[in-house]
Amino acid sequence: MSATILVVEDEQGIQEVLKFNLGQHGHDVIVASDAEEALGLLRGALPDLILLDWMLPGMSGIDFARRVRADSRQKNIPIIMLTARSDERDKVQGLDTGADDYITKPFSPRELMARIKAVLRRRAPQMTEDSVEINGLRLDPLSHRVYGDATALDLGPTEFRLLHFLMTHPERVYSRSQLLDQVWGDHVFVEERTVDVHIRRLRSALEATGHDRLIQTVRGSGYRLSATLS
Ligand code: CA
Repeated sequence: MSATILVVEDEQGIQEVLKFNLGQHGHDVIVASDAEEALGLLRGALPDLILLDWMLPGMSGIDFARRVRADSRQKNIPIIMLTARSDERDKVQGLDTGADDYITKPFSPRELMARIKAVLRRRAPQMTEDSVEINGLRLDPLSHRVYGDATALDLGPTEFRLLHFLMTHPERVYSRSQLLDQVWGDHVFVEERTVDVHIRRLRSALEATGHDRLIQTVRGSGYRLSATLS
């Protein structure tokens, strides 16, 4: 599981340790030394997870987390707060603000990696390598294969990522713009109708076993993968 992780931390020593350890586990690391710099980076591209220091110069980690949660494009990014404070009230406040988890300094790299994995598994299951199955349609991220019942289906790389995202978030409607954020990542140069093109290709790849019916168009809203055929 390799993710793009935004580290918001002003202490250079800790920045270096995080960069090294996350890099060793295959993650791509982007570093911001304060909240303002981090907000600037988020305007460009969205990371898969934010590691956020509580005590930052200028805007605090808590206020930064509130800003992220209030932004429709950024609000679903998982956040793990790093802090030197082990006070129970602080922990409650951090989680209330919308942080997914909380880790107290000093922490072991092993503990941090385990927390990151757990949060990604919960919040972004498409980042993990667990295979998923819905109504006889099975996707295996490790072998990069898709089966309809027992038939191997042939999908392009974008259709595979799109299907993986939809299968790990079933029964929910996603707009074209949300799908661009989740599946394409930085969508600055991609038009929304690109989503329609790939949905069409995905459906035609799933047609052989009738699983194209799982991908539903929700008029005026976007797309949904549903096990309940309409
Ligand atoms: Ca700090």
